[in-house]
Amino acid sequence: MPGAGDPHGRPLMMTTSRQPSLGIIVVGASLAGLRASEALRAQGYRGQLTLVGDEPYAPYDRPPLSKALLAGTSAPEALSFPLDPDLGITLRLGVPAVRLDLDARTIELADSTRLPFAGLVIATGAAARPWPDRSPRGVHTLRGRDDALALRSELGTEARLLVVVGGFIGSEVAATARELGAHVTLVEAESQPLRRAMGEEAGRFLAEIHRAAGVDLKTGTSVSSFAGLDQLTGATLSDGTDLDATVAVVALGAVPNTDWLADSGLLLDRGVVCDTYCRALLSDGSPAPAVVAAGDVARWPHPWAGDSAVSLGHWSNAIEQAEAAAATLLAKEGELSPYLPVPSFWSDQYGVRFRSVGIPALGDEAEVVESDSIARRLEVVYYRQGNMVGVLTANRISRIAGHQRRLAAELAAGIE
Ligand SMILES: Cc1cc2nc3c(=O)[nH]c(=O)nc-3n(C[C@H](O)[C@H](O)[C@H](O)COP(=O)(O)OP(=O)(O)OC[C@H]3O[C@@H](n4cnc5c(N)ncnc54)[C@H](O)[C@@H]3O)c2cc1C
Repeated sequence: MPGAGDPHGRPLMMTTSRQPSLGIIVVGASLAGLRASEALRAQGYRGQLTLVGDEPYAPYDRPPLSKALLAGTSAPEALSFPLDPDLGITLRLGVPAVRLDLDARTIELADSTRLPFAGLVIATGAAARPWPDRSPRGVHTLRGRDDALALRSELGTEARLLVVVGGFIGSEVAATARELGAHVTLVEAESQPLRRAMGEEAGRFLAEIHRAAGVDLKTGTSVSSFAGLDQLTGATLSDGTDLDATVAVVALGAVPNTDWLADSGLLLDRGVVCDTYCRALLSDGSPAPAVVAAGDVARWPHPWAGDSAVSLGHWSNAIEQAEAAAATLLAKEGELSPYLPVPSFWSDQYGVRFRSVGIPALGDEAEVVESDSIARRLEVVYYRQGNMVGVLTANRISRIAGHQRRLAAELAAGIE
């Protein structure tokens, strides 16, 4: 708890001798950034707290972008997270951070403002991976609220949607577009959608669900080019097929937003590389003083991944890691707790709820407990070198808690 007479509450780790009154800056005003800010307050920090975001909107929820917002059953305003004014968070919205100077302990915003800090939380998330070439109007990606509304305006019963799929988001878009009556073609380079992350059986299950919903699923081929001078008219596939399309979604995964950190001295490798306490590492591998990262932008070591670091584009990870990062920033020397989650994820498509716990993508072997695409039930357990590392289910929510407990026990046993 804050010491009596200390206006700033708990000390900032490693910075008590370095102007703690400068306060904490959180860059990235979305799920992880907001949660980190709330957690800092909940954990006793009472100093200055500034949340910087490049979008013009207050923090909002992204999972509905491919579901309720795209379907038109939810309004954009309904996605905003509640923001408690009593928390005393200063919002700087609509202006990106463009530079971090670790020596001067400042961040620079695009409007040339320099903000000094005693502690920094990096929560800049990720952007949708863009199509590598110039593309005509009508080719979309989906990461933000404006993307979803632009895509929504082009969907309807007359639309011919082409989804270049990589993961769950592309599948969700296909499902929502079918609900809206659009003709949907889904192009997947692998033999099954999601095969690389979730294995052959889960991919087959998802493929059958797409086809049962009337999606024209083309696997083992990819989009070579989009057609149309100004406006999209179609696409040519790598097998030579020409398709008609009025609208397309490129859903090839996400790229962490680290450009603004390029010359900061932080270690960047498919994200901000952190240690197990969420401390951002410098390029020599040592932790940068009082700088932590959380959410989709962070990459950190997880015992199940062996020597490599993981990054997870999961809603629940953004929350849990933000809380852990806030705790690290406020911890006294020698009181750090490692961030060792059993991650979880969900995805809704065609009325089927997929749930995963652990990190299935780390598995080298999959045990299919149940796979019934007619009853729309799936349960696959993933192992890495014989140890359980994850589970994927569809419409088997009752099975999740047990798997979660077992994974937590496996994790604890592996750490001992
Ligand atoms: C369409 C869609 C559907 C999803 N569905 C699910 C789902 O069903 N289940 C699930 O578990 N997860 C889902 N997710 C993933 C989940 O939404 C993310 O894991 C979560 O939003 C990550 O939060 P974050 O705060 O780390 O990053 P983000 O939400 O990406 O937020 C980062 C913020 O930082 C801002 N920013 C970037 N650079 C700067 C800068 N230089 N300066 C200032 N601000 C900056 C960004 O604009 C953004 O506002 C979905 C994501 C999307 C896009």
